[in-house]
Amino acid sequence: MTVRTRPDLETLPGYQPGRTIPGAIKLASNEVSLGPLPSVRGVIAEAAAGVNRYPDMGVTALVDRLAAKLDVPGSRLAVGCGSVALCQQLVQALCGPQDAVLFPWRSFEAYPIVTQIAGAQAIKVPLTADHALDLDAMLAAITPNTRLVFVCTPNNPTGTTLRREELERFLDAVPQGPLVVLDEAYKEFITDTDVPDGVDLARTRGNVAVLRTFSKAYGLAGLRIGYCYAPEEVAETLRKVCVPFSVNLVAQAAAIASLDAEDELMQRCQMISAERERVRAELLAMGYEVPETQANFVWLPLAERTPVFNAHCLEHKLVVRAFGEEGARVTISTAEENDLFLAAARSFPQG
Ligand code: PMP
Repeated sequence: MTVRTRPDLETLPGYQPGRTIPGAIKLASNEVSLGPLPSVRGVIAEAAAGVNRYPDMGVTALVDRLAAKLDVPGSRLAVGCGSVALCQQLVQALCGPQDAVLFPWRSFEAYPIVTQIAGAQAIKVPLTADHALDLDAMLAAITPNTRLVFVCTPNNPTGTTLRREELERFLDAVPQGPLVVLDEAYKEFITDTDVPDGVDLARTRGNVAVLRTFSKAYGLAGLRIGYCYAPEEVAETLRKVCVPFSVNLVAQAAAIASLDAEDELMQRCQMISAERERVRAELLAMGYEVPETQANFVWLPLAERTPVFNAHCLEHKLVVRAFGEEGARVTISTAEENDLFLAAARSFPQG
């Protein structure tokens, strides 16, 4: 007798992680190559000695610390096993089979996956010709069935970032019904002062949530921890649909220590954002199209040349992230690693 899985999951693509190739430099997952913040490393080792115990399921100490830092009530925070888990929990918490989840496309590849897992309908709104979120088109695509709208800013993989006026105008125009989720995974790399802080926007709006992660700037991708600031009833449901104990003990300790290392964080983010501008300027000078980016990656919309570019980078022992025949996303790393990438980009025939 054979068992049957849900037929609607037969077409589920599954998440495609950036590849790790021995001997090659990985610029494929928007990680920082510098490791956890220096003062956090000892905390991780110390916390590891206590893993015979279950973690605090309420993540109390971290929630208190975040609440104080962000000046928000802890009741509006939910911590998850990476912000991708919170994406999944959000869909589970808000959507049934007839409901729709709306998001820009291309954007973070988990959005359609978590939507399909929940059996909800994915509504993909194409980016503008400039690789930015098309907020007017997103607004027009909202229907009474729309329960959730993901707004990724800076957008993965294009790096384009919404400015205050356009985002506020959008949020004010969203009709009653859906929750708008501002996915700020790359927030710490933003240098443009005209980019608003999502938590500030969500503070006074009952239909806005914010997703953040310790995976990127904080260098804790391997520990899996992120958080969501949401309306109280949403945050409460997110905590209920969380896999019990999925926010592990080492991650909780490391996240708290990371919040205490603000100077170390700023130092690395300054280095990375300066490198981002340098890499982009050099690529533009070589003739590449590179949308302006506020994240720790650049997007090269190479269209049908993407697979060849990907192969060329691999020949140079560089793993970038290629998306079909759309483009390649390249993580900004240290000056040394970025120079290796720039050398590879320079030797790629421009056509
Ligand atoms: N949102 C965006 C936009 C991302 O790019 C990522 C990671 N690629 C995530 C969320 C999830 O990150 P994590 O689960 O590691 O917190």
